[in-house]
Amino acid sequence: MLSLLDIVGQDSAIARLQRMYQAGRMSHAMLFVGSSGVGRRTTAEAWAAVLLCEKPQTRPNGDRFKELPADFPLSLACGTCPGCAMTAAGTHPDLYLVRKELARYHEDSNVRDRVMQELGIDVIRSFLIAPASLASARRRGKVFIVTEAELMSVFAQNSLLKTLEEPPPGVTIILICRRGGELLPTTLSRCVTVDFRPLPADFIRDRLRSQGMVDEQAAFWSAYADGSLGRAIRLAGRELYPVKRRIVERLAGLPKEGDAEFAEDLHHIAEDLAASAVAEAKKIDGAELSKNLASRQATGELLELIASAYRDALALATGSPRPPAHADQASAIASLAQRFGPMGLAEILEQLSELEEAIWRNVNPRLVWDNVVITAASAAPLHLWT
Ligand SMILES: [Zn+2]
Repeated sequence: MLSLLDIVGQDSAIARLQRMYQAGRMSHAMLFVGSSGVGRRTTAEAWAAVLLCEKPQTRPNGDRFKELPADFPLSLACGTCPGCAMTAAGTHPDLYLVRKELARYHEDSNVRDRVMQELGIDVIRSFLIAPASLASARRRGKVFIVTEAELMSVFAQNSLLKTLEEPPPGVTIILICRRGGELLPTTLSRCVTVDFRPLPADFIRDRLRSQGMVDEQAAFWSAYADGSLGRAIRLAGRELYPVKRRIVERLAGLPKEGDAEFAEDLHHIAEDLAASAVAEAKKIDGAELSKNLASRQATGELLELIASAYRDALALATGSPRPPAHADQASAIASLAQRFGPMGLAEILEQLSELEEAIWRNVNPRLVWDNVVITAASAAPLHLWT
């Protein structure tokens, strides 16, 4: 089991939890907000271990958290009691991980069969609200960790309001989400928000290197991942680096009239990415990631990769001090900057972000890729689906 002390890059969030706990002001409904892959869930589970530990320990902070005084008593899980052992094994009867994939365990076959794109009311009722009202099995309370809380439907959120406002005694609910604004204001106002910061790029680069990645790739993914170690590891693990090199080269050399074959290639790359995401989800926790959702996510990821090249070019064209992600393809970026100038690049980025939104409407992915290539080649908007 990972101790709170071993979590890196989230000292201010952990120090905040420690301060609230010590002062007896621990909220029973919390929102852990930040990008995925920065340690939100790890911290939630480590914090749950503190709450569920049967022999909790304290030790002085010393110089571990610079946000806290040296003599501040840190509350920690012992790591050896039966509660800690069960938490570490993922079998603690009072620790609930609530996620959209739970729909497949629902007793109602209609709920099981529904495409798992949202965290629906049935899952929230069966796996949070109902068990929250039952007695804790090991008498240390219960902890519910809801991942991807932004996927909760409006009905799910409304059904949860009362429990968030007044959780049964001993119940702690931790909602994990990307941005608080993605939840209903009524949900938001019932939770204490704990912010999780992006991790420093240097830290991510060193981690990737220590896993055997060559410098050039580690430098790219750490600059690209926006402070998310999880994202860097996930993307790097898909062997996307040669793909991104090829894409950036082709973007730089796109003829003005576009390139239908390139659009087709992008479509295939996105489909391959989606297929490997589905396989990965199955391998990791037997989850059935819907093909449709995987395909949209992969399209979004690839669009983001393309947009990042134009963002680098825009930064270069405007003399922004922001360090480039694609430092390894400086000449391709320079040629994009020269070809389109700040106005053209801003236009392309605007179009790409509209196309990214279009993925979530029912737009044929091939049309999206055709438009991406036309936009990328000429900075001209073409809305084929309207
Ligand atoms: Zn313990």
